[in-house]
Formats: sequence, C-alpha cells, structure tokens
Amino acid sequence: MQRIEKAPAKINLSLDALFLHDDGEPEWQMVMTSIDLADYVQITLRDDPAIEVRTSSGFLPEDQRNLAYKAAQLLQHTYQIPTGALIEIDKHIPVAAGLGGGSSDAAAVLRGLNELWQLGLTREHLARLGLQIDSDVPYCVYGETALVTGKGDQIKPLGSLPNFWVVVVKPEVSVSTPRIIRALDCDQIQQHPQTEALVAAVEAGDLNAMTRNMGNVLAPITTERYPVIKQLSERLLQFGADVAQMSGSGPTVFGICSQYSRAQRIYNSMSGFCAEVYLVKPLKP
Ligand code: ATP
Repeated sequence: MQRIEKAPAKINLSLDALFLHDDGEPEWQMVMTSIDLADYVQITLRDDPAIEVRTSSGFLPEDQRNLAYKAAQLLQHTYQIPTGALIEIDKHIPVAAGLGGGSSDAAAVLRGLNELWQLGLTREHLARLGLQIDSDVPYCVYGETALVTGKGDQIKPLGSLPNFWVVVVKPEVSVSTPRIIRALDCDQIQQHPQTEALVAAVEAGDLNAMTRNMGNVLAPITTERYPVIKQLSERLLQFGADVAQMSGSGPTVFGICSQYSRAQRIYNSMSGFCAEVYLVKPLKP
C-alpha cells in the first residue's frame, strides 16, 4: 500500500517570542501560512519492521536524524506497529532556510502513516505527537493559515487569506535555528509584530492592514550575521513588493504583492541577484 503526501513550505507572516520557558524554548506567537512550494513524500508500507528514508537531495541525512524518519519511528513505537515503511522524499523546499521543510516532511509522514496504518488519529492528536519532533511540526500537520502559540503546539486556524502573490528569495547561506534562538533575548526586542491586528486583518481579508502589521523578531539577529538578508529585503521593496520579511529564523526572505504582473516583475528582477527565487501563492485551506 502506498500514498503520496504533499508537504508544503511555510512562511511566517509574523514571528514573535514573548518569553523563554525554563527549558530555553520560546513562548511563540506567530501567524503562519503554507505556500505552493512543496516536497512530495511517497510512503510505501513494508512487511518487515524497517523504516527506510530516501531523499532526492543528496546531502540530507537519511537515518534517525531525518525528521521524516523520526515521525515514522514515533508513530511505530507509540502504537506498536509491527511493520515498517519506505519513505521517499522528493525535495523542492530549500534546506535550513526558515521554510520548515523538514517539519513539513515529518507532518506529511504523520498524516500519511495515520491513513496507511489506519490509526484514526485526529489532527489535534497528530499535532501533539508532532511537537516531540520539532516545534514547527504541529503547524505543518494543519498546513493552513493559523495563529500558532505555546511552544508551537497551540494552533488556531484563521480561514482564508486575502489574495496575494509571494516572491520567495533564498540566499546562499544556511542558518541553524537553535543558534539563532540561543542569541534571542526577549527583553531586548525592539519591535514586535502587531499580532492581534494582523490576525484581525487576516480574518477581515484586509491585505493592506495585513502587510502593515507583520514582523519577525528573529530578523535582526539573523541579519546581523548575514547582512545579505537586509540587502535582499531592500531590493524586494525597491522592485515593488508591498512588504518584505524574513521567514522563521531565516535566511529566506519573501515579498508580498497583490498583482500578478508586479509579482512577476519582482521575480524577474530578483532572479538577477539570487539563484533561488520562487513565485508562488499561499495554499488555499
Ligand atoms: P526550522 O526553522 O523548523 O528549523 P528550516 O526550514 O530552517 O526549519 P529545515 O529545512 O527543516 O530547516 O532543516 C533544518 C535541519 O533539519 C537541517 O540541518 C537538516 O539537515 C535537518 N533535516 C532533517 N530532516 C530533514 C528533512 N526531511 N528535510 C530537510 N531538512 C531535514
């Protein structure tokens, strides 16, 4: 038995950290959405208990370090499943980019094996399990625009977004999320996103108010280490994006704009500065 799951990238319309828990993990407050840039995860059931991961990427770990492997192992152990699975990941989401690719692959495995092993788990349950893998997995189990709080485990879907295009630009640097979070001091944050106003704007379908209230408190930390992020954000604005922002802990930046023709011009212009540029739409719920 076999299943193919789409594993979309996420972007942070906002990312805020309110305080650090005793274990060093932030209390997050984020608005996330998924975009039409995705990995494809093919899951084939095996008769023996082995879990095997293969990726198209060439340099990603394919053992227990792969988040998709961890997801399969977690379900197998928790529900004492005697058989295993072959997981083949067709990678399109840039790695270590702030786009949640590994977490989305893990969420796709949770969703896919829940069906194939007929576990009948709700997505709330899958999301709770997913938190054991990575803080972005619960959101990725939902994969629709949501307010995400707690350690990443409280997910409140927000419904449809207003219409817009996203130009995603991934500079040629990789960022370690734990390293950026270790440098985070919640008392020193200069500017927080206006989360409440952002949520209201999303719910009202008001794109102008949405773009006015976005923000990412990790952006100054990552940008200090990789100034290219600031340069690319400035170029996105210069070429006509309504707003430009870093996603997650970076280094990917994205620009938002309402008109396709303008988005395409921005895409063409940015392609002159960066090898990895994508023109995509948010996914519909
Ligand atoms: P996050 O912000 O959630 O850490 P990210 O988008 O910045 O996500 P990922 O692409 O998920 O980063 O990769 C982060 C790390 O996870 C990398 O070091 C990578 O080797 C490891 N990893 C494990 N499994 C995967 C996977 N299936 N796809 C991508 N990276 C993976």
